[in-house]
Amino acid sequence: MLELLFLLLPVAAGYGWIMGRNSIRNDDVANQRKFYKQYTQSLNFLLDGQKDEAIEQLINFLEVNSSTIETHLVLANLFRRRGEFDRAIKIHSFLLQQVLPDELINKVKLELGRDYVKAGIYGHAESTFLEILPNKNEEVVQEILNLYQITKEWKKGIDVIQTIKSIHSTDLKKSAAHFYCEYADLLSSQYKTEAQLHTALKIDPQCTRALLALADFSIKNADYKSAKKHLLQILEVDKEFSADIADQLEHCYINLNEEYVFYEFLKSYSQPKLCVAFAIKYAKYIEKFESTENALQYMTQMLQDTPNIRAFIKLLELSKDAARSKTELVETIRVLVSNYLKTKALYNCRNCGFNSNQRYWQCPSCHKWECVKPSKGLDGR
Ligand SMILES: [Zn+2]
Repeated sequence: MLELLFLLLPVAAGYGWIMGRNSIRNDDVANQRKFYKQYTQSLNFLLDGQKDEAIEQLINFLEVNSSTIETHLVLANLFRRRGEFDRAIKIHSFLLQQVLPDELINKVKLELGRDYVKAGIYGHAESTFLEILPNKNEEVVQEILNLYQITKEWKKGIDVIQTIKSIHSTDLKKSAAHFYCEYADLLSSQYKTEAQLHTALKIDPQCTRALLALADFSIKNADYKSAKKHLLQILEVDKEFSADIADQLEHCYINLNEEYVFYEFLKSYSQPKLCVAFAIKYAKYIEKFESTENALQYMTQMLQDTPNIRAFIKLLELSKDAARSKTELVETIRVLVSNYLKTKALYNCRNCGFNSNQRYWQCPSCHKWECVKPSKGLDGR
């Protein structure tokens, strides 16, 4: 049934177009008759299950021009989405045999290239995309990069990136920068590798990967000042990676004899919230430059706001040295653990992992019956 629906789509559009044309030339009924004949024929093919013949018929009688081409493109894209790549390729190739304005030819070629990628015919995809590359369209460049990331041809991708002067799309900037980083990984000379990483950063100043790789090089060369600069930049562009750089950043400050500066940095950085890795480091420096009691207080407060197992271990470490009473400590731990448990689901689906605090006889996620059961494991019931 779905088949029928989307195959009738171009028919409806084509019909509308022909009707529009006929209203201008009302006496021209021959066309209308021809249309109905071919329409019926293709419907018959379709109902007989002869899908290929039906498509053939449809694309032949839908005269290709600027007002019907969208319909052809929609049909071909539907085929592609359904995984029927050969049909999508057939329609797009048919369109390319027609006399069309350059702009439309480029659009069809882009779609044909996408068909080839999906069908795994990478050689054809590459040549089709390269034909329209001189238009310097970012969409085309992105498609070519998508293709080269499947085939892992980073250098070829870089050659394509170099054909365009500047990139505007954020996604394309990100892909382009990663092409330079991937290529950098393949180079044996550190000098050449660093040059590629700097180009990546020129294209996308937010490229965490390039910043981290440059920081690694600087640390290897004992250039802690430059390593620190790159690492602090990561905190600016993407805080979510902060846990990954906490150790390296501390290492830089220690080697620069700036431990107190690091402590002050963590203090100023604590608003908005630090990631757990940084919070643990902050507690360590509070203990060093203030007191164990202050560190313990900071950790307790932090854990009350966001229960976390790693921070909890730090709290226990600090508690060993603190002058707190045993009762007080046990009470703190009890509160923390129960807060932690409140964040855990009471039930989970044994089939798909769906979590919930209420019982479902049928899982809302995978729809299996009696699979949502009381949770098990470390925080289970
Ligand atoms: Zn489920």
